[in-house]
Amino acid sequence: MSRTGRPRSGWTEALALGIAVIVALGSCGNDATKQPFLAAGATMGTTYAIKVATLPADLSEEQLAEGVQVQVDRVDALMSTYREDSELSRFNRLGKNEWFAVSAETACVLAEAARVSRLTGGAFDVTVGPLVKLWSFGPGEKERRVPSDDQLALLGERVGQGLIELDESGRRLRKLADSVEIDLSAIAKGFAVDEVAKWLESRGVSSYLIEIGGEMRAKGRKTDETPWRVGIEAPTDDRRTVHMQLTIESRSLATSGDYRNFFESNGRRYSHIIDPRTSRPVAHRLASVSVVAETCMHADAMATALSVLGPDQGLALAEELRLAVLFMVRTDQGFDELKTKAFERLSLHDR
Ligand code: AMP
Ligand code: MG
Repeated sequence: MSRTGRPRSGWTEALALGIAVIVALGSCGNDATKQPFLAAGATMGTTYAIKVATLPADLSEEQLAEGVQVQVDRVDALMSTYREDSELSRFNRLGKNEWFAVSAETACVLAEAARVSRLTGGAFDVTVGPLVKLWSFGPGEKERRVPSDDQLALLGERVGQGLIELDESGRRLRKLADSVEIDLSAIAKGFAVDEVAKWLESRGVSSYLIEIGGEMRAKGRKTDETPWRVGIEAPTDDRRTVHMQLTIESRSLATSGDYRNFFESNGRRYSHIIDPRTSRPVAHRLASVSVVAETCMHADAMATALSVLGPDQGLALAEELRLAVLFMVRTDQGFDELKTKAFERLSLHDR
């Protein structure tokens, strides 16, 4: 028997956690002028919500909504593996050694992906595409089942950061073995958040809170001069409760976990996060990892990578990198929190 942790649709599946981190509403007050402007919609198979404290005179609410939608749709059109016509899907269909011209956006994301892969000893690896599909977490409705050892061994040759070569300045990409497929689901949502931030700033917006499928970035303060507050969700499969509140002024917050996107077979839980070193879903007691960093792209990728590394190795690396990270570890009673020193400082400052 298998049970899915979440209904599948488009990127929702690939982008996993969805609303792992939810926006905690600030104080409303009676003064309607103090309410933030809101632009909300759907993209990448998930939802987004952008709050802006004050609109510049030359930006209407309609232009805000339209501009944000254009930014998120562009990232989807480039990097979705759920769209046959995306830039990434076209690359994935190519054979080995053929150079493929990539957009500046995709080149930027791939360069960061390679950097995070190096930083994490290969725990982060965007070439896991074929494994994600084999474990039935990729695009398309599939029966969820555990692949055989032979199937996994065969795919080993198609996975590895070293199997893709990015010529960043020349903005081109090639694969060094046939059938290599890239999956940017662990980093593209964070990048989309950064793109929206960049666009808002280019339009003179100085205070905002952006949330796409649970990944967030904030800048400035609300009109009442208090910082934007967000909530980190408790990693439970069925209920949605805020576990902890945090203010994220001029920073990003991303969360990865296995509590929304998984399947169960013979009493075992299979996460959508794959350990490239074993070709199998991560299998430890870590339920979620939340990372606070300057860019949302980095926070997103690191949250996935630290989920692969697990509570011991992950915590040690996060301390070494001085990253602000909250690990939620399953116990028989519920959950334990592990915080890095940098995260501790953030949450202390928050009380
Ligand atoms: P996230 O929700 O950001 O942690 O991203 C998880 C998604 O990234 C999965 O659904 C896969 O599509 C993909 N993925 C799984 N394992 C890895 C990995 N080790 N490195 C990079 N991407 C991964
Ligand atoms: Mg991620």
